[in-house]
Amino acid sequence: DALGPTITIGEILVEIMATDRGTGFLEPITLIGPYPSGAPAIFIDQCARIGGSAGIIACVGDDDFGRVNVARLHADGADVSAISTSPEFPTGSAFVRYRNDGSRDFVFNIARSAASQIDLTAAARALIARSGHLHVMGTAFAIPGAIEIIEYAIATIKARGGSISFDPNVRKELLGQSETRARFARLVDIADLILPSGEELFVAAGVGGESEAVHALFARNASEVALKRGAKGSTVFTLEGRRIDCPAFAVEEIDPTGAGDCFGGAYVACRRLGMPIEQALTYANAAGARNVTARGPMEGAGTRAELDAFIAMTPGRSI
Ligand code: ATP
Ligand code: MG
Repeated sequence: DALGPTITIGEILVEIMATDRGTGFLEPITLIGPYPSGAPAIFIDQCARIGGSAGIIACVGDDDFGRVNVARLHADGADVSAISTSPEFPTGSAFVRYRNDGSRDFVFNIARSAASQIDLTAAARALIARSGHLHVMGTAFAIPGAIEIIEYAIATIKARGGSISFDPNVRKELLGQSETRARFARLVDIADLILPSGEELFVAAGVGGESEAVHALFARNASEVALKRGAKGSTVFTLEGRRIDCPAFAVEEIDPTGAGDCFGGAYVACRRLGMPIEQALTYANAAGARNVTARGPMEGAGTRAELDAFIAMTPGRSI
């Protein structure tokens, strides 16, 4: 990462989950947590664990939910210098319960938590000033103040010759607002690498059909598109017309949350470490698959050695 670390901006949360499947939280149920969470946090944790230089701009409360997150990110090698602590608001949280059909019920505390108090502090400016890559998480669009920091970081990092990736995992309701839609479109216009999952490809491209959508993205600014297909694996398309398919690693899915974030963290880190697409994509698929085998949104994020061991367990697969 010659130009400096990969950074991301957005929510840090704890996740507290129901131990059994069912609908909602309308009666006393057994819960387990707190688990470190938040899509940007999961991304940056996987990025750091696999050996990439990585940092995050975020805000937590002055409470144990904040401390559990900062301690984890720090232990895993991420730069936590630009995580501020709100003296007033508690750390953001998400209570989640899986239904039998795999859908989820949530109780969120994000908008009125420390996660929404993210600010362009001196530490945030300092981290941005030495960064070589910004990964934008669509989930951060839910935090009004994050967007200005993202735009400042884009300008600064691009001016230094750095690059931008974009995971368009924006809540659909937010794209109903014309201002958010315009910012979303602006990100699609400047991102070098876009990592959509399923339908997000068509939302980002504004057209249907897989190859039409990919070409529409290449007609804008992207030179690489990494399409995530859950248990069906993933595909990278390149501006030069290459298509690299990577089958999924067969695993027992315990908790699907965070797969896409781990995929992205591993892919971006590996590419920035200079790996060819094939190798980065194998690590990314392994990172996503390994993460779904553990309960908790970032509990299965793997180090490079752990992912090497995970890949070696699958007959016929190697790195
Ligand atoms: P999330 O569901 O966390 O929002 P996402 O929808 O962005 O993630 P997915 O496509 O679900 O992304 O997962 C990312 C990658 O992780 C997949 O491309 C695949 O490589 C791996 N993965 C996810 N789920 C599974 C699974 N059940 N079995 C094997 N690999 C998986
Ligand atoms: Mg998914």
